[in-house]
Amino acid sequence: MDRQHVDVAVVGGGPAGLAASLYAARGRANTVVFESGLPGGQIVTTDWVENYPGFPGGINGAELGELMTKQAEEHGAIIRTFSPVSSITPSDGRFFVKSEDEEFEAEAVILATGAVPRKLNIPGEAEFTGRGVSWCATCDAPLYKGKRVAVIGGGDAAVEEATFLTKFASEVHLIHRRNEYRATKCLQERCRANPKIDEHLSRVPKEIVGADGKVAGIRLTSTDGAPEEYLELDGVFIFVGVHPVSELAQGLLDLTQTGYIKIDHDGHTNVPGLYAAGDVTNSELKQVVTAAAKGASAAFEALRYLDEKATHAS
Ligand code: NAP
Repeated sequence: MDRQHVDVAVVGGGPAGLAASLYAARGRANTVVFESGLPGGQIVTTDWVENYPGFPGGINGAELGELMTKQAEEHGAIIRTFSPVSSITPSDGRFFVKSEDEEFEAEAVILATGAVPRKLNIPGEAEFTGRGVSWCATCDAPLYKGKRVAVIGGGDAAVEEATFLTKFASEVHLIHRRNEYRATKCLQERCRANPKIDEHLSRVPKEIVGADGKVAGIRLTSTDGAPEEYLELDGVFIFVGVHPVSELAQGLLDLTQTGYIKIDHDGHTNVPGLYAAGDVTNSELKQVVTAAAKGASAAFEALRYLDEKATHAS
């Protein structure tokens, strides 16, 4: 396998990685992005993004991802789709970045591998995934036209997607384990004003029950002393948070106890030449706008690092 040389390798093609590659390429760094699927990241499975500046009224998540990809490519970033990176190995001030069928030698690497949905780990969840259990309302909501669904979670994703599901489902049961949501207030207000959403606060999913090979209902326990209850359902959408995709970084750089890559304000990790941005990092606010901003910062620092390297070499 011939090893190709690049200035900056970006791992992950979500908003953080795409913004990083846009900035790196505009800084005239030879830049390649490795994306394990199609670019866009988690926004691809978001129906509507209404808090990314510049799009009054909002924009479809997949469309926003396409626009970000196009813009990065327009400025010279090379995007490798369906190219999961299998390893990053430091060697003599550079990094060998290996994907399935290519190997690159990069002067600097920006990790922007994002996060994936958490599971509930309750009986029925794995068994009925794809047969009533879903992690993507944008993908699966049309299958539930006129049907009863539950949404599990109390964060932005759950509350927003519950509202989206009311476009299709006849009843949406929003189930949250505490008596107050974590979601942004304006999303809560919209959700509460929607007559199709039935709130179940202080309720914890215990088991997803199936019949004839698909979801038939959910069993709930309570945290407020109420008796166990059973809801008849056709679908269960799970939005109980995410966990970072940081396996590549294990053993390579410092992670938090929960697996997020530790970065400083500008995206430096503890290893010179290695930067990180977006949902895989310990940055507090996890939004498209902050992912893009942190991607830009990481690229800016990577460009500075390349310049310093070049100065020392000459
Ligand atoms: P999140 O903010 O971490 O919320 C996860 C929710 O799931 C919490 O309400 C949590 O309950 C609940 N939960 C966690 N584990 C559970 C379990 N085992 N059983 C039952 N409930 C459980 O996650 P998210 O909503 O996926 O959002 C992730 C990040 O993306 C956040 O930073 C969010 O702001 C961002 N995001 C933003 C937007 C937007 O701006 N429109 C949209 C989507 C996501 P507790 O509250 O009790 O912990």
